[in-house]
Amino acid sequence: MSWNQRIASALQQRHAAHQWRQPVTLDSAQGTEVEVNGQRLINFCSNDYLGLANTGGDDLAAAAQRWGLGSGASHLVCGHSRAHQQLEEALAHHTGYPRALLFSTGYMANMGVINAFAQRGDLVLQDRLNHASLLDGAQLSRADFQRYHHLDYTHLQQRLQNFRESQANSSRQGLAMVVTDSIFSMDGDLADVAALSRICQQQDALLMVDDAHGLGVIGTNGGGVREHFGLSPAELPLYVGTLGKALGGFGAFVGADSDTIDYLIQFARPYIYTTALPPAVAEAMLGNLRRMKDNQLRQVLDGHIQHFRARALEAGLNLMDSVSPIQPLLVGAEDRTLELSQKLRQRGFWVTAIRPPTVPEGSSRLRITLTAAHHRDQIDALLDALIELCTDPQEPRS
Ligand SMILES: *Cc1c(COP(=O)(O)O)cnc(C)c1O
Repeated sequence: MSWNQRIASALQQRHAAHQWRQPVTLDSAQGTEVEVNGQRLINFCSNDYLGLANTGGDDLAAAAQRWGLGSGASHLVCGHSRAHQQLEEALAHHTGYPRALLFSTGYMANMGVINAFAQRGDLVLQDRLNHASLLDGAQLSRADFQRYHHLDYTHLQQRLQNFRESQANSSRQGLAMVVTDSIFSMDGDLADVAALSRICQQQDALLMVDDAHGLGVIGTNGGGVREHFGLSPAELPLYVGTLGKALGGFGAFVGADSDTIDYLIQFARPYIYTTALPPAVAEAMLGNLRRMKDNQLRQVLDGHIQHFRARALEAGLNLMDSVSPIQPLLVGAEDRTLELSQKLRQRGFWVTAIRPPTVPEGSSRLRITLTAAHHRDQIDALLDALIELCTDPQEPRS
């Protein structure tokens, strides 16, 4: 087989399986209403949960006047500016950690953290539905990599126990690491991080939580999963937050104690070998961090989530069991999910069809996301359309 044949056959398979993907081009800024191909669409697929993605433009312009565009180098060469330093301090303060370390993206932070810690002979245990960047990070490491059933901490404990027994019977000195999403990106449910923390302390395992969808959304002050569960930094020693979701910007960071941050600076390759974020972006993020602290945004968002779920469940829509702004509607088959997404599009709603390999086979879904910037009538209009499209007209409706 030649390379051309392999490419053609892989593309053809993706098409046939209704798994083809391609980007859609926006002609407007991010928001609840966007323009695509001359059509106005009400947007229900962004991760901009607090509606901040299009608020920091003035901050960014002012910061760019001072810092220009490029950072010039990696953090450890000469790319680490006062703007980066201030953002790290502000993020550490907001999430309740002694220190924070910036990464260019959440994907890189996850790859970097897992690989800095997990070595040959160690065990990395992950929830089966963790984000791809976490799974990829473990795969790249030389550690043993096992997945436990989604949210099944009995299964996790068994695996940890097996590992400890196998270690006791050998001269090896392996360590265990447990990694989970807080809010699962395609399901919207929340890991019981308090339970995980207890298990990890009992079993001497290192706990890492990816709070990409929790930071800004959960916790009384938007402090994320650690605040939500009332854990101390020692009880949740490795925290990953991203700046591209509720914070409405770009970038990511790790929150941890001082030694852990120093360790990452030495050993996390995606920190060491990449250009630092543009300093103007780092400075502008301070503005969004300030905006994010407004608890009213979270109140509005929570109200939307309650309203959406109440009406959808009453109408018998097949909503997944989610407490978060991610409210997936389970469909099952790829082609049916695509068709629903397209029909919604014709009616002016943008809701992405999420299909394998992003989610397990047979669990294709419409991933509906709500934001604090939505208006109640936009949400009601979406519900009307969903009820019309998803409720079988043959079935009598009471
Ligand atoms: C989006 C996401 C990431 C990646 O973050 P980026 O900054 O976009 O690279 C990591 N983990 C989870 C759970 C995510 O949803």
